[in-house]
Amino acid sequence: MSLSPERTFDVAIIGAGPAGMTAAIYCSRGRLSTVVLERGIAGGQMALTELIENFPGFPDGISGFELADRMKRQAQQFGAEILEITAVSTIRPEADATYTVVTDQENVRARTLLLVPGVEARKSGIPGEAEFIGRGVSWCATCDGALYKGKQVAVIGGGDSAIEEGLFLAKFADAVHVIHRRDELRAARITQERAFANPKMRFIWDSVPLRILGENAVTGVEYQNVKTQELATLPVNGVFLYIGQLPNTGFLQGFVDLDPNGYILTNELLCTSACGVFAAGDAHTTAIKQIAWAIGEGALAAIQMEKYLDSLECATPAPWPVEQPAQAGGKDQRPGKANKTSQLNTDSTT
Ligand code: NAP
Repeated sequence: MSLSPERTFDVAIIGAGPAGMTAAIYCSRGRLSTVVLERGIAGGQMALTELIENFPGFPDGISGFELADRMKRQAQQFGAEILEITAVSTIRPEADATYTVVTDQENVRARTLLLVPGVEARKSGIPGEAEFIGRGVSWCATCDGALYKGKQVAVIGGGDSAIEEGLFLAKFADAVHVIHRRDELRAARITQERAFANPKMRFIWDSVPLRILGENAVTGVEYQNVKTQELATLPVNGVFLYIGQLPNTGFLQGFVDLDPNGYILTNELLCTSACGVFAAGDAHTTAIKQIAWAIGEGALAAIQMEKYLDSLECATPAPWPVEQPAQAGGKDQRPGKANKTSQLNTDSTT
């Protein structure tokens, strides 16, 4: 906890992925004092993507790292402050309708918050996964792919992440063995076409990994065919797991409503169950997980935060059942004004 007095901002954005950075650009350009709490590197999952081909304006594609860096510089240019932290431990509502965000670095206060904590790779929990982290088990081909030049690797999963990252690994590895639990991929068609056309990509269908093998480093993966129950061992030097994602919302338990999978519940205007607190990006109950979508949500959230600061009227209640704390006179004493439904419109401002 910081000993110096907390600085108060109009807007605090927790997370520096595409939604957070877009909101930071809009808010700081709108002359709101804005701080972005960045954990790790700017860009979140996007920054770990080698080549982004479906973000408009870059016909030759752009690396996720570069796109993240450009967004960050654009936000800073308009005055947004980027505060590097390791973690937010909690968020405390204050009596003056602000929130204190408690971090391992500086604590900051803000009048409105945007929660964009993003997601992290889901772990499989199979034997060997935890033991061989950094010794053959990875969730980041962009980070570790070059270590597998001339080697054999396994990729677990059949979604966009698995197949895109598998194709990236194929630039280095002699062969990339995709182990997928069904007999068709979930990844986008164009990605599938590229994977099937790449002679280094091999597919082991209807199979799940049971155990990652090795002594000092990974030497193979044992897997099972879910249709025949047959067991087999694939000798590989690396195992990259892409079996889905989990939201980074542990620190939000009890602060805003989450769905049973831990995703932040929002209404269509990105309001959470806490007054003046908005959420966007992959960690909320979003329709799709795409950078272009996250960008749009970042813009929408920024406009909603600006409107909230103008009126201090809370746009909640949300469309899901929210248990109100029992209070004398039935008044909601959360920060901001009473839990009034205001029809905020989604007019775009530039
Ligand atoms: P995902 O779409 O949820 O795919 C996870 C994959 O892992 C699926 O193929 C799933 O199999 C498999 N799987 C899940 N649990 C498993 C288990 N316990 N054991 C074995 N396999 C398991 O996750 P993702 O690929 O990380 O993508 C997350 C989101 O980001 C998606 O919406 C995706 O479209 C998006 N994304 C987009 C891009 C892009 O647009 N370029 C790039 C990356 C990610 P089933 O198919 O049988 O369910």
